[in-house]
This record gives sequence, C-alpha cells and structure tokens, in this order.
Amino acid sequence: MKLETVFARIYRELIEMGCLGCGRQNGGRMGQEKQKAPAGGEKRMSRRTGMLLLLLLFAVLTALAVLASSGALGGLFTSRTTTVEQSEVTMDTVASLTATGPEAEAQAAVDESLERLRELDALAGTGPDSDVSRLAAAAGNGEWVSISPEVYHMLAVAREYSERTGGAFDVTTGPLVALWGIGTDAAHVPAEADLEAARALVDYRALELGEDGQSARLLRSGMSIDLGAVAKGYALDELRRIYEKHHIENGLINLGASSIYALGHNDKGTAWRVGIRNPRGTGEEDKLLGVTTLSGQALSTSGDYERFFEQDGVRYHHIFDPRTGAPAQNGSMSVTVVVDGGTEDAGLLSDLLTTAVFVLGPQEGQAFLDDMSDEVSGIITTQQRDIYSVRGLGERLSNVLNTYTLH
Ligand code: ADP
Ligand code: MG
Repeated sequence: MKLETVFARIYRELIEMGCLGCGRQNGGRMGQEKQKAPAGGEKRMSRRTGMLLLLLLFAVLTALAVLASSGALGGLFTSRTTTVEQSEVTMDTVASLTATGPEAEAQAAVDESLERLRELDALAGTGPDSDVSRLAAAAGNGEWVSISPEVYHMLAVAREYSERTGGAFDVTTGPLVALWGIGTDAAHVPAEADLEAARALVDYRALELGEDGQSARLLRSGMSIDLGAVAKGYALDELRRIYEKHHIENGLINLGASSIYALGHNDKGTAWRVGIRNPRGTGEEDKLLGVTTLSGQALSTSGDYERFFEQDGVRYHHIFDPRTGAPAQNGSMSVTVVVDGGTEDAGLLSDLLTTAVFVLGPQEGQAFLDDMSDEVSGIITTQQRDIYSVRGLGERLSNVLNTYTLH
C-alpha cells in the first residue's frame, strides 16, 4: 500500500475518532456508543483530550510525511524500484551487472557482486598469490597446498568432467596455455619437442584433491591447472546467490557475453534477449548468429574467435585438445550451452560444457550434450556453417543468419 494511502486512511480514522469525541449522533455504531458514554463534564473532558490527541498525531504524521517524501527516511517507508547497472574490467573480461529491485538492495547486490568478482579473480587468476600459482609452484614436491573452498569446488567439478570427457576437457591444461601464449604478445606455434613436453604434463589424473575440501596437489613438476574454462561460470553461480540474498528477482549478470545468467525479466517485463555471436561475423549486420530469450538460466559460449592468431591459413585459438597439444581442429567453430537455474552449478556447468563440447567436436560433442539432463540445451556451429541443436536451443533462436543451416 502506498504511503499516501496509509496516511489518508489514518487521517480519516482520526477524524472519525474526533467526531466520536464531539458526541455527534451520526450513525448506528457511534449512536450506540454515545448512549453508553458518561454524561456532562466528563463528556467535555474527553472532547478536549480527543482534540489534543488528534492535533498531536496530525503533527507527527505530517512530519513523517515530509521526511519520507524528502527521502530522509531512506528505505524505511519508501521502496522505490530502481535498475542499477555497473560495469567493471575483472576476471579477464568486462563484467556488466544489472539488478532491479528496491534501490538499496539493488545497489548492494551489484556492489557486493563486483567485490566478489575481484576476490575470485585473486583466487582463480594467475597472480603470484593465487591458488592456481601456488599449486603450480608446489607441483611435484609431494606437499598438499591449502586452497580456498571456491577453487576446490571448481577443481572438483572440473576433474569430474575431465574424466567424463575422457580428457578432452582437462583442468590441468595450464602447460599448453603457457606454451602457446594465445592472446598474448608471445603467441606462437611451438617447436614439436616443446609441444610434446607440455602435452605430457597435462593429465587430470595427476591432480589430487584433499578430503578436507580445502587442499590439492599436482603430482608432477611442471604441471599447472587452468581455470579459464570454469571460473566465469562459477562466478555466475556466486553472483546469482548474492542477487538472491538481496531479494533481486530481475537482473542480468553478464561476464563479457561469454557467460551470462538471467534472473526474471527485463525492464519491459519480458524475458531477457541475448544475442549469440556469429563466430565469423565481420560487421554489424552479421554480428549475431541469432537471438535467444533467457530467464532463470545460465548461458555460456566458447568459440575459436575469442583469442586466436592465424599463420599459413591456420587459425590457432585458445581451446586446446589435450590429446594433440594443439588448438582443437575438429570442425567446431563455437558452442553455446544453456543450463536451467534449478540445476546445481548451472553457471559453472554451462561454462565448462562449452569448452568440453568444443574439444569433443560436433558429433561427439552433440552426443555428449544429448546424454545430459533435460535442463541442458545447446548449439554447436561448425566451419561448414551448420548449426547442430540439442534439446531445441537452435529452434528457439530468432533472427538466425541465413548463411547457416540448422540441423
Ligand atoms: P572464454 O570464455 O574466456 O573464451 P572458454 O570458456 O572458452 O573461455 O574456455 C577457454 C579457456 O579454457 C582457455 O583460455 C584455457 O584457459 C582453458 N582451456 C583451453 N582448453 C581447455 C581444455 N581442453 N580443457 C580445459 N580447459 C581448457
Ligand atoms: Mg567455457
């Protein structure tokens, strides 16, 4: 109920109370009360007291109304719905956060989320004190390294899927990332011997996780983990929990468009519309492969267009096939996976699966997604400009580019 309406009702009731004090006989209920009321002087006393009380309350309510309308009472009486939007460069990407709700809550959700991203970046990034760097530094010396529960969780899920994909996804892919240097000034095609040496160090089975839930170790010297395929997805789940804690029902958590979580709906009251990049888009008109709606779901995309260099007509990108030690060359161009928010680790899974499916390749990758639960859907685009769809995501796209064929 609006504040003004509340005041209006209280005023009305006070005025009625005042009239009761006046002793006017205007109505059944009041008439009956009057018959019971004491007569003479006492009646006059109650009229004066009533009037005084009325004046006092009138003054208090007027003061409150002035304070409330000036905003001085903050969120106590008013709960103005606002949309807070903020962006920040963090976790190797541009995080754009949108939250709609009571002003203070929406702002708190966004502030806390940005702070959380900075924390996660410090843990899962490659800074000298990160869990990732400390694990690499201790690799092969036999000692357990204490790590944060956050990184432990990412490693546990990543290790499970490393196993389920037969090593196509491998969370210990660090040596290949370092060797190729894709996306850095040092990017190059490595010598065969270096490639072989790095490839031999990629093996998720040599990553051990402590039973305490906060330690891990890498069994061979030179090994390192790489959370590039899961950290942003994990962050989606964390931020979503922060939004929910602040009762934000509508919002968008967008981590550089490659990992997105949509809550509820947009300001127009409809599901969020999210564009999926055309991996070979060259201009504005062919930038998007298609558009999907998203609500209560996580969406991630991985593609060979994110970070790459070309040499002798070959595109060397940042998604490696640990079995060859080179960027996966199997026809995949991009993979998009949508996971319903009701699924545990929805964000993390969407992120992880895009990389895993990309490396598995169009056929195997599609079969892998097919075998997942009903909460998972996806598309795989290939160099032949085919779109393979799993559980209807391709069919649900609108504005699909006509240079692609949907299967
Ligand atoms: P982004 O969204 O940042 O482009 P992706 O989700 O597409 O990242 O994952 C690519 C990243 O995953 C690479 O930069 C690398 O850090 C890591 N990676 C590459 N190949 C593999 C692999 N086979 N298994 C696990 N992680 C990988
Ligand atoms: Mg990924």
